[in-house]
Amino acid sequence: MTPPFPTPPDLAGHPYFQYRNNVLYAEDVPLDHLAERLGTPLYVYSRAALKAAWQSYCSAIGPRPVLVCYGMKANSNLAVLGEFARLGAGFDIVSGGELHRALTAGADASRIVFSGVGKQAWEMRDALRAGVKCFNVESVDELHRLSDVAAHMGLRAPVSLRVNPDVDARTHPYISTGLKENKFGIAIGDALEAYRTAQSLPGLRIVGVDCHIGSQLTDISPYFDALEKLLDLIESLQQAGIAIEHLDLGGGLGIRYLDETPPSPRALLDRVFERMNARGQGHLQLVLEPGRSLVGNAGVLLTTVQYIKHAEARNFAIVDAAMNDLLRPALYDAFHGVQPLHPRAGDPAEYDLVGPVCESADWLAKQRLLTIRQGDVLAVESAGAYGVTMASNYNSRGRPAEVMVDGDKYYVVRQRETLADQLRGESLLP
Ligand SMILES: *Cc1c(COP(=O)(O)O)cnc(C)c1O
Repeated sequence: MTPPFPTPPDLAGHPYFQYRNNVLYAEDVPLDHLAERLGTPLYVYSRAALKAAWQSYCSAIGPRPVLVCYGMKANSNLAVLGEFARLGAGFDIVSGGELHRALTAGADASRIVFSGVGKQAWEMRDALRAGVKCFNVESVDELHRLSDVAAHMGLRAPVSLRVNPDVDARTHPYISTGLKENKFGIAIGDALEAYRTAQSLPGLRIVGVDCHIGSQLTDISPYFDALEKLLDLIESLQQAGIAIEHLDLGGGLGIRYLDETPPSPRALLDRVFERMNARGQGHLQLVLEPGRSLVGNAGVLLTTVQYIKHAEARNFAIVDAAMNDLLRPALYDAFHGVQPLHPRAGDPAEYDLVGPVCESADWLAKQRLLTIRQGDVLAVESAGAYGVTMASNYNSRGRPAEVMVDGDKYYVVRQRETLADQLRGESLLP
């Protein structure tokens, strides 16, 4: 894609955020109303968009035995989790904190899978006490620790091994996880032996095979490279007398940020079932762990133009949101669309959208053609995933508020962090 980027891009990928009479709405709520009432920066989510994304998985699954465990690190607001719990989702968690959130939001523990390379003993204990479906174990050391913890509680922990299939997900290197140089999982060549170890340990019960090869995948072929390797492994396990109940293919389906055409859940699932059936494994339960594709396009970040600065090399729109609110551009060089809440007439100029944080990496968008003035409010699109969950207090900035729109109603689902909130737990020396 060569800059300057088109603006406004067509909003076909974001049907719950549309203009009416030259005002951008979330469902039936005008976004300028929310910005005025609640201030900016402000994350706004659409409940209907969450439901539609969930439904796209359900309709692709039909009657087949699939458990969808929402990869909740994408967006772990309680209201988001509660909505998915009501819809029947399971959850993919990566920490004791996420377990606590999921249970608080009403999750059914028997639909929780626990991923992550560095599980601590207390996190294992909490998850065993809750009765999670499965631990996705990422190393032989972890097998030993988990067995000890479970045996000490008089339990057998249900385990899958997260296998690293050494496939190239062809995505950004920071969100590619299935190559042998990544820290994740157990190398596929070592998996059979690790399963034998698991089988020999008193506190474990083998239930599945797991992988997660990366995120924002816009091509499905890496899934099938991984799937064939996993099916080979499952055959070897069966030959070795190790039966499993489920196959977990992780998350990773991409979304449209600009002009990507990511595969649909149906395109992915139809072929997964075809291959599982062809290889005689149609009886296995399939587990998926989608995060981004359930929430990414269900949220926008509203931000107000504070200053316009015409420098020699470029024009800057200095906005009140920053890398501490939305890290993806700084971290991954990620593209997010930018839309004015009230498009203005007049010739556009090319702007870099930058925040107030003292880092050159503090930018949200580059080289966008916009017609804007000081005080205008902009919507940064596709901010529902890996937005607020990556927010920090860098530069002692409070984290933004979050709002859920539902038809013509809205609910503040997280208050803006106050100055007092920021100092809580700190103290001066005596
Ligand atoms: C992050 C993550 C997910 C979710 O990934 P998305 O790309 O957001 O779908 C699923 N499983 C594991 C193990 C993860 O680390």
